Amino acid sequence: MAWSLRRRLIVSLAPLGILLLVLGVIGLAVLFYMGGRINAILKENYVSVQAMFLMNEHLERMDSSFQFALAGREADARAQFEANWAGFGQQFRVEENNITILPIEQELVDRLRVLKDDYRARGERFYARPAGSPERTTDYFGTPNDPGLLGRFLEIKTVSGEILRINQENMFQARDEARATARTALLGLGLALAILVVFLGGVTWYLLRTILAPIRATTLAAQDIGAGRLDREVPVFAGDELGRLAETFNAMTRQLRGYRETNLARLLRAQRTAQATIDSFPDPILVVDPNGRVELANPAARTLFGVTLPKDGQPGPVWHPPEPIRQPIHDALNVQRDHLTESFDQAVSFRLGDEDRVYLPQVRPIRDPDGDTLGAAVVLNDVTRFRLLDQFKSDLVATVSHELKTPLTSVRLAVHVLLEEAVGPLTPKQTELLVDARDNAERLLRLIEHLLALARLQRPHGGTSFRPEDPVALLRRAADGARARAEDKHVELTVNADGAVPPVAADADRLTLALSNLIDNAVTYTPAGGRVTLSAAAGPDGRVTLSVADTGVGIPAEHLPHVFDKFFRVPGRSTEGGTGLGLAIVKEVVEAHRGEVTCASAPGQGTVFRITLPASGGGGRPDEH
Ligand code: ADP
Repeated sequence: MAWSLRRRLIVSLAPLGILLLVLGVIGLAVLFYMGGRINAILKENYVSVQAMFLMNEHLERMDSSFQFALAGREADARAQFEANWAGFGQQFRVEENNITILPIEQELVDRLRVLKDDYRARGERFYARPAGSPERTTDYFGTPNDPGLLGRFLEIKTVSGEILRINQENMFQARDEARATARTALLGLGLALAILVVFLGGVTWYLLRTILAPIRATTLAAQDIGAGRLDREVPVFAGDELGRLAETFNAMTRQLRGYRETNLARLLRAQRTAQATIDSFPDPILVVDPNGRVELANPAARTLFGVTLPKDGQPGPVWHPPEPIRQPIHDALNVQRDHLTESFDQAVSFRLGDEDRVYLPQVRPIRDPDGDTLGAAVVLNDVTRFRLLDQFKSDLVATVSHELKTPLTSVRLAVHVLLEEAVGPLTPKQTELLVDARDNAERLLRLIEHLLALARLQRPHGGTSFRPEDPVALLRRAADGARARAEDKHVELTVNADGAVPPVAADADRLTLALSNLIDNAVTYTPAGGRVTLSAAAGPDGRVTLSVADTGVGIPAEHLPHVFDKFFRVPGRSTEGGTGLGLAIVKEVVEAHRGEVTCASAPGQGTVFRITLPASGGGGRPDEH
């Protein structure tokens, strides 16, 4: 069973602590012992040394007091003797109580006591003799058989000197002992310290190996895993906490690996599904990234544009889209603008094999949730068949209309002749039926005229010629055609021609047809007493606006957006007998002139139609339509 990290730390560090404790205790003991020794030396020997020293002083003084007395200075001498005797005795007592070096010091003190008592007795005897007596000299200097005061003085000095010496010697010995002890203690401590350092080194190495190495390995593995290398395993060194950490780490990495694999699989599946989905569409679909590289394209798009898909996540080459969709793709990628088309005018054609195909391009930017551009999706709705059908329908309508027109004209003529009673009188009932027939023939003829006009306008490459035309002249020409009807209806028809208006590039016949339709409507939808005003004006940008304004019934706002649609008629006004094609023709004509037509109206207040055309030579050639 491997040791836990905690246990290992405790087991490694505990001996260190114990060793430190032991060292501390030894150090303290040594210090305490040395202190005690120094104290003892001071206490035991130093006191004796000092006592002997002072005793000698007093002895010297007492000796000199005898010499003073011999010299005749009795009074001073006696006082000096007494005074120093007291001090001497005191120092002796100190020594007596401080005998440390047995038995020799005891013997010396005993001798000193005897000598001291003798010296005292001799001193008393000396001073008891009368001053100046010769016995005093003998007392002091002694005789060959008696040492005298001086002899005793010298003896005391010798003994006290001996006591001083042995005490001093003892001090030196104690000092040497203390020094030796200190040296031993120092050696011991140094050794212990060396052991401690070695042990510490061992413990450090052990901890580094068993704790830091796994931590470092785990850190390195974590860095690798952080950098995405999920196949990295952390080595498991032991079953301790670090080992468990490494195992947990490996478990986490396995989990992450699992997640990545499932996510990758999901992503791949999603991508395959997306590809399969767009592949199943017959229309060309492709997705470009913000750099213009093709990211996704279905087989139809690949065949049409000859693009190849990037392999294995490598970026494909930049795609240069064909001219008609280049700008829309650029706009989608750079300004996130949609390009959505719905009418045949916006169709583009590409050559596929040996046939031309017609498409309605739809280009949409792809944004992320933050609104940044991720790319653009391009869908080309294949409308080739519808275009052919439309063409077929237009041709059919044109043919049928053309074929109907001639017989209908003769029917109308016949009805007119009958109504003029040129071939015989009519009964009122017959007249009524014939009027009805004439009106229907007129209406049918107008419808046919309109259908033919539209077919002509919509026919591709119809060969239209534009020439500079005076707008006012065009207005007048159109007005003249409607004047009789206006007068019949009592509607005032005027042409405003104030100021100079530049010429416009126009196909005079077609523009007159468009203006005639507008004027016709204006007269139709204006009750008697109303007014229709035609005018032309030049704008600051050189464009020319032709307007047809009436004071008629107006158009409700909700119908305004539809008035230019084919066959649209404002509901509830079917009595007027229109076809719903007049304004569609106007729009076709105006757009062929690269112009615009707008309608402003309010019910009961009249209507204004405005045709804005580029000035002749000013704004590019109108479309060949
Ligand atoms: P229509 O042959 O019915 O006149 P148009 O396409 O010319 O067909 O006009 C479509 C519809 O717009 C008309 O049916 C009419 O209701 C409305 N309209 C056109 N011009 C005017 C006008 N000047 N005043 C009021 N309504 C108008």
